[in-house]
Amino acid sequence: MTPTEAMYESLGISRKVYEFGSKVEEELKERFARIDEVAEYNQLKVIKAMQDCRVSAECFQSGTGYGYNDIGRDTLEEVYAKIFHTEAALVRPQITCGTHALALALASNLRPGDELLSVSGKPYDTLEEVIGIRPSKGSLAEYGVTYAQVDLLADGSFDFEGIRAAINDRTKMIEIQRSKGYQTRPTLSVAQIGEAIAFIKSIRSDLIVMVDNCYGEFVECEEPSDYGADMVVGSLIKNPGGGLAPVGGYIAGTAECIEQAAYRLTSPGLGKEVGATLGVNKDFYQGLFLAPTVVASALKGAIFAANIYERLGFAVVPNGTESRHDIIQAVTFGVPEGVIAFCEGIQAAAPVDSYVTPEPWAMPGYDSDVIMAAGAFVQGSSIELSADGPIKPPYAVYFQGGLTWGHAKLGILKSLQRLTEKNLVTL
Ligand SMILES: *Cc1c(COP(=O)(O)O)cnc(C)c1O
Repeated sequence: MTPTEAMYESLGISRKVYEFGSKVEEELKERFARIDEVAEYNQLKVIKAMQDCRVSAECFQSGTGYGYNDIGRDTLEEVYAKIFHTEAALVRPQITCGTHALALALASNLRPGDELLSVSGKPYDTLEEVIGIRPSKGSLAEYGVTYAQVDLLADGSFDFEGIRAAINDRTKMIEIQRSKGYQTRPTLSVAQIGEAIAFIKSIRSDLIVMVDNCYGEFVECEEPSDYGADMVVGSLIKNPGGGLAPVGGYIAGTAECIEQAAYRLTSPGLGKEVGATLGVNKDFYQGLFLAPTVVASALKGAIFAANIYERLGFAVVPNGTESRHDIIQAVTFGVPEGVIAFCEGIQAAAPVDSYVTPEPWAMPGYDSDVIMAAGAFVQGSSIELSADGPIKPPYAVYFQGGLTWGHAKLGILKSLQRLTEKNLVTL
């Protein structure tokens, strides 16, 4: 037994599980090399942006109070705009999460009487209350913003004719969700999104296209904003925070859209000028710097999990061989016990809180019980190794993250170990 094998054994991984995993890993060498190539490109893109914006040690200082003239905050927003090739960006600790960033992008750019059109089917669960699909206080619906939706076609592609038919005089904004979220549809590639944006702009060039970019950042060499998205929106405790950002969200986009968002986030007239950073600047910068390699680790974990569970006969989205456009891996177990065992394994592999057992609970914003496994340094961070699944059919678990490949690998082996111990799989 090699020292590494002995270490796996000491972490509760049986010989059988380890050997099964090793065989799968061996076959993924070429895939992993291509992921490293994308990470290399994106690493250079981030460094170039930081250099061009003259990031300095001064940028890491902490602002308090109103936060006027926070050079770290303002420069970071320039860096984000450079990376996403947009005119401007809003990157703030006051944006509390991805849902908040999306709600902000929507509410600030829509007015009573406008219509929001989602062209990638049902939006992410938490947006249902933001939009008012499920009635909620302060929803867009309460402010007289209507909502329409065009589902993706059965093969997961855009329904171009449906989109054309759904656009009307009141349509103001189009929403495209890049990642699958809690659905088992394929994730949209940046090229596919680009095609949809070109089509939408050919119908009406003044439509604002907003892309929910959560979990997609740095997976490919390009972002939806490279194809004309007016806003790309995401969470800093996912990909672009690189695991170090302790909170936050971003919107990168046109100067007009970002100004609207800033006036809504703080106050009309104040906009981007205020907002103390309270010491988070260095982590925002350093996390962004690490993000391309962190995303690569997470992608390797997702592909490893897909190949393991596909081989064992479970439905996995994406499948073991297809190309990747976000870091999420869905595995459908068909029974709640499978979802729970998987999450227990991920939790048991964590550096933090490895001794606790996750249980399904009624999380705010979701319409069924959800089980979440996360032993994270940043609470709820899903760029760190984490898994979650709504306890409802088809009983799929959504797995994501891993700041390092070594940790992602351990987590997946632990999940497999747990499933074998509960007789849910046999190797
Ligand atoms: C995570 C996620 C959100 C919401 O982000 P939170 O930070 O959890 O509020 C929205 N859309 C997609 C596709 C996501 O993955």
